Amino acid sequence: MSGTLTLVATPIGNLSDMSQRAIDTLGSVTVVCCEDTRRTGLLLQHLGHSGKKYIVINEHTEHDACEHVVALLLDDIDVALVSDAGTPGISDPGERLVKAALNAGINVSAIPGPSALTMALVISGLPTARFVFEGFLPRSGSDRTRLIDEVATEMRTVVLYEAPHRLEKTLVDLETACGAMRRVVLARELTKLHEEMWRGTLHDAVKYAQTTEPRGEYVVMLEGAKPPAPPTDEEINDALRDELRNGSSKKDAAAKVAAKYGIQKRHVYELALMLK
Ligand code: SAM
Repeated sequence: MSGTLTLVATPIGNLSDMSQRAIDTLGSVTVVCCEDTRRTGLLLQHLGHSGKKYIVINEHTEHDACEHVVALLLDDIDVALVSDAGTPGISDPGERLVKAALNAGINVSAIPGPSALTMALVISGLPTARFVFEGFLPRSGSDRTRLIDEVATEMRTVVLYEAPHRLEKTLVDLETACGAMRRVVLARELTKLHEEMWRGTLHDAVKYAQTTEPRGEYVVMLEGAKPPAPPTDEEINDALRDELRNGSSKKDAAAKVAAKYGIQKRHVYELALMLK
């Protein structure tokens, strides 16, 4: 017998978003893992649950705390994991503890609930069927440049988290990489008094960030890149001529050009046969 590790989502602003199951679970466990004992202590006090044992799990402690928490779970003690706000494990601690618990054969469950990622995305008006979540972009250096370049060519909707004091720089960098006219949606202070959705182009978003001192928490969502236009027959013929000059047969040239443009081989081969 071992206890269960339950990841419990908590509100991202509005305390009424706490689900009954989340309240009951936090009431029933002996141990609550959290990022900040003061913040989570206040939440549990508000819910009428006191007398819990708290274990701090944040980016600095998660590694060492895992062993201790897994030992408690193996000792048949139920443990809940919450973060400061939203869903644990989403740009918040949790992933490492979940992995450690699963490796030890412990049952892991979750009480789903608020997350800025899902709320912002579903009301963005951007395509939601396929999307990419990048969390916080690296602050500087080649990792940031590489990720922004990747984001610029990504065809699915991209969701980012950003701190208010970094919003302008991120929007400027995105405009440089994606172009001024790419559509962007900024979700601010979701579920809170000053909840706001801003929709427009990257060019106007930069102006927004420069003229209204950004405050509160933001989710940045970027429209996916347009798929490249299919090549014209003229472009295909030029590419075929290059391949033929390099010694390829018409069949091989057609295969290479079709692969290069990601188009059907049959049409390219027909063009190759017509080339003088
Ligand atoms: N685990 C959380 C979740 O599930 O959404 C995210 C935690 S991450 C450390 C915090 C970031 O989430 C903020 O910087 C902001 O980008 C986003 N965020 C959290 N609450 C938000 C809110 N109410 N409105 C807009 N963005 C929010």
